Amino acid sequence: MCDTLPGADDNGTGVVGLLQIMKQLKNDTLGKYCFEVVAYTLEEPPFFATEYMGSFVHAESLHSRGVDVFGMVSLEMIGYFSDAKKSQDYPLKFLRFFYGNVGDYITVVRKMNKGPFARNFSGKYKKSKKVRTKKFTGPQKLTGIDFSDHRNYWHFEYDAIMLTDTAFYRNKNYHRSTDTVDTIDFDRMAAVIDGVLWTLRRMN
Ligand SMILES: [Zn+2]
Repeated sequence: MCDTLPGADDNGTGVVGLLQIMKQLKNDTLGKYCFEVVAYTLEEPPFFATEYMGSFVHAESLHSRGVDVFGMVSLEMIGYFSDAKKSQDYPLKFLRFFYGNVGDYITVVRKMNKGPFARNFSGKYKKSKKVRTKKFTGPQKLTGIDFSDHRNYWHFEYDAIMLTDTAFYRNKNYHRSTDTVDTIDFDRMAAVIDGVLWTLRRMN
């Protein structure tokens, strides 16, 4: 028997982000760049980290066609925030000293020593001041850093970042029946999406 998993933050919020970005950029161009808004299937176990992930199939098809990818932005879970003390955990406890124990921010995650797009995007995103933002750069082997679709772009040496509310390090409803829409912070989620639009329009 399976629990009912409403999946509001994981990953209703990411889908809302995609839809809103599509709507806002419908009559827009991003300079000389084409852009694709892609919803991926099979991100979860047992397909996670296999070539059956939708994002693996997509990244591989770009690679095999020799498409020059400027950058990829993965909207992971983007709707859960808390202003309470001790509401934020980390894969390594010492990170708390750098990032604090209050889960009131969005994280822009990129891989260490990788990618001008990722560096530029995360810097600009923070400057947009739409939402409290913390930049995180780490080695790929750090637990959690590649827990979403951007991992497959990294695999093909594409420049990619992940935007995340840090998933289970903050949201204890993760993969539970309690991941419901009433736990979503719509104001901050909207600000996260506004930040993506603001940043994408300034990436040229
Ligand atoms: Zn999940």
